[in-house]
Amino acid sequence: MVDSLTPAQRSRNMAAIRSKDTSPEMAVRRLVHSMGFRYRLHRRGLPGTPDLVFCAMKKAIFVHGCFWHVHSCPRGKLTPATNARFWQAKRARNAERDRKSRKLLSKAGWKVLTVWECQTKDEQRMRKRIGAFLASWPRK
Ligand SMILES: [Zn+2]
Repeated sequence: MVDSLTPAQRSRNMAAIRSKDTSPEMAVRRLVHSMGFRYRLHRRGLPGTPDLVFCAMKKAIFVHGCFWHVHSCPRGKLTPATNARFWQAKRARNAERDRKSRKLLSKAGWKVLTVWECQTKDEQRMRKRIGAFLASWPRK
């Protein structure tokens, strides 16, 4: 089969895939809300623009799509059928940026939790993990 997509079309296709990947974020938001925690969204000015920010506690949660942010799970190891090298490079940049953001945040005294897309499928486990993260106050 001939790959007849223009780069712009392909980019749109991949963007559509990416926006699907935001549903794990909704799952996390709903859960955190149901647990009674208040948060702010996509706080700009913080490294990496964390998805959920708990200002008073200085805690931040990132929700990462396994494919886009290169999780060590099967989905994170997928290789795209077309333009593999381009997308691999993009994903590697994402992962590198994530590492840097986490480092900068923790240097500034923030506690950071990364929730992976595949982990949002087990709500009970996710509730435990997020609960433990948010309930503990940072020790000196
Ligand atoms: Zn994963």
